[in-house]
Amino acid sequence: MRWSQSFLPTLREDPADAEAASHKLLVRAGFVRPVGAGIWAYLPPAQRTMNRITAILREEMGRIGAQEFYLPALHPAEIWKESGRWQRIGADMFRLKDRKGSDYCLGMTHEEVFTAIARDGLSSYRQLPQIWYQIQVKFRDEPRPKSGVIRDRQFTMKDAYSFDVDEKGLDRSYDLHRQAYERIFTRSGLAFTMVEASSGAMGGSASAEFIVESAAGEDTILSCACGYAANREKGRSAVPPVQDPVVKGAPERFPTPGVRTIEDLARFVGGAPADRQVKTLVMIVESKPVLVLLRGDHTLEEEKMKTALGTGTYRPATPEECVHALGAHPGSLGAVGVKGMAIHADEALRGRRGMATGANADDFHLRGVDVERDIAVTAWADLRQAQGGEPCVRCGKPLKAFKGIEVGHIFKLGTRYSESMKATVTDAGGRQIPIVMGSYGIGLERIMACAVELWHDAKGISWPASIAPFQILVTSLSAKDEGVVNTSRAIHESLLARGVDSLWDDRDANAGVKLNDADLVGIPLRITVGPRKIKEGKVELAVRRTGEVREIPADQAAEAALARLPTLP
Ligand code: ATP
Ligand code: MG
Repeated sequence: MRWSQSFLPTLREDPADAEAASHKLLVRAGFVRPVGAGIWAYLPPAQRTMNRITAILREEMGRIGAQEFYLPALHPAEIWKESGRWQRIGADMFRLKDRKGSDYCLGMTHEEVFTAIARDGLSSYRQLPQIWYQIQVKFRDEPRPKSGVIRDRQFTMKDAYSFDVDEKGLDRSYDLHRQAYERIFTRSGLAFTMVEASSGAMGGSASAEFIVESAAGEDTILSCACGYAANREKGRSAVPPVQDPVVKGAPERFPTPGVRTIEDLARFVGGAPADRQVKTLVMIVESKPVLVLLRGDHTLEEEKMKTALGTGTYRPATPEECVHALGAHPGSLGAVGVKGMAIHADEALRGRRGMATGANADDFHLRGVDVERDIAVTAWADLRQAQGGEPCVRCGKPLKAFKGIEVGHIFKLGTRYSESMKATVTDAGGRQIPIVMGSYGIGLERIMACAVELWHDAKGISWPASIAPFQILVTSLSAKDEGVVNTSRAIHESLLARGVDSLWDDRDANAGVKLNDADLVGIPLRITVGPRKIKEGKVELAVRRTGEVREIPADQAAEAALARLPTLP
């Protein structure tokens, strides 16, 4: 490709609204343009990178025996009603009606469609296992589309689904995907961590995310040198034991005028330190109040609560609803003596005595509370958000917390979809059994963006060779000097003839502009042909990532570049 004939609209300035490096650089280097909030156009260089990512995905999915499909993005509501997700998923789903008034949605994922195909097409255990996948567009009305193509409302996903006879089969399919994902991300030039993830309100027995460490990430990961790594939505830490005083007798009610918060009560004379308080949160689930209890100095992890509640649909109660449910305003709420209400308590409260909590009367608290004796806990669960610096649950060393971007997610679904949608096969004994399923997703744009997050410097992008839009850039530092132009053309054509994706910067532009653009666009290997060196029959071979530069004879340039390609980072 000749640059003079290409659409590669590089910009001098960062887009005004951009924070993430990948957002700034993909726009400035001419890869993407915004069309609407969370809606992007991919220009030719981005499309080249997306195609190279696609090729890696196809190869690695093929290696584990997966078969490629292409499913529609437009789904009739019926199949989503069958799985129950038409009702359960809220505003994230784009919904529309056709001219007859029937309901449709734009697919945000494809469990439903694949399960429907499996139901109609698989009837015997002999046909299993199967691994099916596609590389296709997804639509999600994200509440906060941001960071360029990291969180879009339309994006491209490689989504795969496995169908097995039993859990053992699922374990094997899950493991195959784990291996494929490790190869895919490694080949794409990404450094990543595989972490335990939350399966959310959807259930399922195991799930893991592949995370690329980056300040632009929205996920917080807790990890430890011992190998423990988890998304904070799921992650745990050890709680050092607290020595409680011995308290006899019933809880004692005492006046606490003006005390509204945990900190207020910690400062109040006769109050209690935060780690000796019970924090009472009131949530409304299906229009009923539910109590959620945590230690005063602990923070609620909402994803854990969703798992405990078995639903993602809840909201905090209003002050009026608190009064109605418990007889007091927030600040004086407690669970002592409360009956007929679901009470979810965090594990860190188990066995605690001598605790303080609201008395369910404004401006009164209770002290001397024995949690297990005085509170009718209906369910104990891990509800607390673990923090960096706290001791690792496995080895006790302090956990490290870092921000990261989720590039992939593998998920043991079990029989959730096959049961609700009645996708069964006959087993060896002739009985109908639900197919055991897994689901596995990778965001293509996230691979592209993460590569930029990891591999850029002040001057621009430095693509991993495997997913770069072009492998080699041949830059003519003059468009007038015949020696330069002829040599550049010869090298470029010889590279093309050898099947190398070469881009020739043949523009009639200032050498400085061309070198800046070369750094910005980030082609991994470049051959620079300048008027002075060419008189000695020499050109420069440079590696974008390392800055390594070598002078080589012009007539050996293509050979030397070809030899260097496979050893690039
Ligand atoms: P997130 O927590 O970031 O919203 P998710 O858990 O909703 O991600 P999945 O439903 O597991 O994501 O989708 C599989 C993959 O699709 C993700 O690992 C990610 O790479 C990609 N992905 C998900 N949502 C988006 C989005 N809005 N824009 C771009 N890629 C996305
Ligand atoms: Mg999401």
